[in-house]
Formats: sequence, C-alpha cells, structure tokens
Amino acid sequence: MNQLRLKRHAGRRLGSGHLWVFSNELDSLPDFPPGKLVEVIDSRGQSYGTGFYNPNSLISVRLLFTDEKIDIDFFAGRINKANLHRNVFFPDEQCYRVVFGESDFLPGLIVDKYDDYLAVQYLSAGIEIRKDTVIEALLKVFPNTIGIIEKNQSRLRAIEGLESYDNTAYGTIPDEINISEYDIKLSISLLAGQKTGYYLDQKLNRKYIRIISRGKNVLDCFCNQGGFALNAAKAGAGNVLGIDSSEEVLHRARANAGLNGFDAIDFAKADVFDFLEKEISNGSEWDVVVLDPPAFAKNKKSVPTALAGYRRLNKLALQIIPTGGYLATSSCSQHILEDRFAGEVQSAASRTGRQLRLIHRGTQPPDHPILSSMPETAYLKFFVYQVI
Ligand code: SAH
Repeated sequence: MNQLRLKRHAGRRLGSGHLWVFSNELDSLPDFPPGKLVEVIDSRGQSYGTGFYNPNSLISVRLLFTDEKIDIDFFAGRINKANLHRNVFFPDEQCYRVVFGESDFLPGLIVDKYDDYLAVQYLSAGIEIRKDTVIEALLKVFPNTIGIIEKNQSRLRAIEGLESYDNTAYGTIPDEINISEYDIKLSISLLAGQKTGYYLDQKLNRKYIRIISRGKNVLDCFCNQGGFALNAAKAGAGNVLGIDSSEEVLHRARANAGLNGFDAIDFAKADVFDFLEKEISNGSEWDVVVLDPPAFAKNKKSVPTALAGYRRLNKLALQIIPTGGYLATSSCSQHILEDRFAGEVQSAASRTGRQLRLIHRGTQPPDHPILSSMPETAYLKFFVYQVI
C-alpha cells in the first residue's frame, strides 16, 4: 500500500485521536485518484493506520484507524456497531441517524434511518468511490430495507471536489412516507425534503420544548415541517404558530398537524426577521419563542457576519417575550463555538434591557455523537432561557 509521510511534529493531533490529515501536514501530495486507500506514517516511520486520500481536498487523508481490508465486512461491522449504540438510546424509535461520519469512524458517511427507508450522504471521496459496497453493507445490517436514497446535495461535497446528485440507490422511494418521532406522527418526503428528509438532530430538543409549552402561546421560527410546533401542541400549548420561508415545508407542516389531530396550531410563510419586526411594531407577545435558523456561518470567514446575525435574531425575539416567558434558541453552525453563541444571546439581552437565566443547555442527541478529539464533530447548540 502507498505510504504518505507526515512532516515532523504533524503527528501530535493524530496521536490524540483526530482523524484528519491536512494537506500542509504531508511531505508530498501525490497525484493518486480521489478516495484511494493510503497508509499514513510519521517522520520516524510509525504508522497511524490507513485512510481515504483526496488530493482535491484540504483534508488530504481521513483516517480509518484500522489495518483491516476495507470491504463489505468492514463497513457492515462498523455500521452494525453504530446501530447498536443508537439502540441503547432509542430502543423504540424507528427514525434516527445510524452513522454520523467521523464520530462512527466512517469518515464522510451519513446514514439516516426512516423506518425501512435509508437516506445516505457521501461527504468524502473515499466513501463516494465505495458507495456500492456501502449500500451492500447497509442491506446486510438492515435486511428489511425497502429503499435507499442518496441525498448528495451537501455543499461539503463541493469542498471535496465531488459533484451534487440525488439518486435512488436501492428499491423504491415513494413521494411521501409516514414516520413518527416518539408520539408525533409525521409525513415527510425523502425525495423533496431538505437535507436527508427531516432534521433528526433536534429530536431531543423538540421533546424538551414540551416542558415549557403547556398552556402557552408558542412561536416556532424556522419551523420546517413543524417539528417544535407539533411538540408544543402535543404538550397542550394554547396557541402555536410556525413560521418558515418555504411553502413546500409549510404544506407538510400543516398536513402533520392534521395527522396528529392538532387544531390550535397554524403555519405561515414569512421571512422570520421581517415577521418578528412586524410583531414588535404590533406589540404582540409570545410566551415561548423557538429559534432554529439554518447555519449562518458556512465557513470560518463568515463567522463575524453570522455572529451579528444571531445577535439580531435573538434581539428581535427577546422584544416579543413577556417577563416569565422563554426563549429556546439554536445554532447549527459548526464554526460558532458554544460560548460565542451564548455571548451573542447575552449581548442581545443587554441591548434590549432584558435579564435572562439559562434553564437548559442542549446539544446534539446521542445519534449525532461528538468525538471529543475532533471539535469539528460538534455543531448544534440549543439553549433555553427564561426572561426574568
Ligand atoms: N426547526 C426545524 C428545522 C429548521 S431548518 C425542525 O425542528 O425540524 C431551517 C428552516 O429555516 C428551513 O425549513 C428553511 O426553509 C427555513 N428558513 C431559512 N431562512 C429563513 C428565513 N429567513 N425566514 C424563514 N424561514 C427560513
């Protein structure tokens, strides 16, 4: 097997369990095909095991921490292990993330399970060129699978030099499927949905919102297919309104409210920033406001603009929450660290003359585990504050 040598001192991070070798850490960047398996050694010849090489990415090698052959048994073994971990936390759930890339030592592979359908994403060249083996391995671990869809539109693929595509890789994928998240019924579209079909990462945070929603007026900003709003309604909220800028997802949110028999719930199409401005000028009040925007920082360069965006959004929300009410605020930007996000919320509070106390600090659920040696695997922040 071809060996790639690290520059002197470049091994320290890898020694502590990080899985990525950056292009400036290697002695040379040979013109091997993207995805080729290579062995990484340090300047003294000590091996860090094998990994997927990609000459088109700043992440030159994604380590696999194995000497095994990378075949169907390797993939099935790791997928099975990942699935067993999920079964501990979600024994009765049929929808969860089975594989979360590096955190499951399958760099660049995402697998989301929606009952007997799987939605997969390939975010590394190593997985892309082995996709047929990955699909076979998935069918071995989940023999009842009806359909597997490849949802390969992620911007992370472009960074890896991979093109975008969606494809049915196995079986059939209907226009809509009916699933459930705990006791909430959902109709989702794997074909048309954003990401892999549903935002599974907010599963526990959506459930958390029930604690503070009973008898309250709840505003779910960036509601997508109704996730937080439906949980608020389930908890017996007095009145729930979900806001999103996409008519396609709102049509599903309304259908989902119907599926669950909720009637004190409504959904409206609007830009959240404009909507909040209007609510402020109308003097409206909402006891609970949920903010779950898309990632404002897509890369390191956009962090300052994103921080300003979070500050502005939280400032607007804080102006419509009465004393005693709650702000549940999220950020899914990997480049924005938890403390900086909390700092922006605090800054929004002081600029609006509000006092906040932190009630709950949430993050990713156990099916999106954070590898502590790789801060890059942590992205979701979810804070619940009470306005006092
Ligand atoms: N809260 C959702 C997930 C939110 S994903 C859940 O629990 O499943 C972010 C959503 O924000 C997407 O549905 C997207 O359509 C919407 N969106 C993005 N920018 C927006 C804006 N400026 N105003 C309103 N909605 C927006």
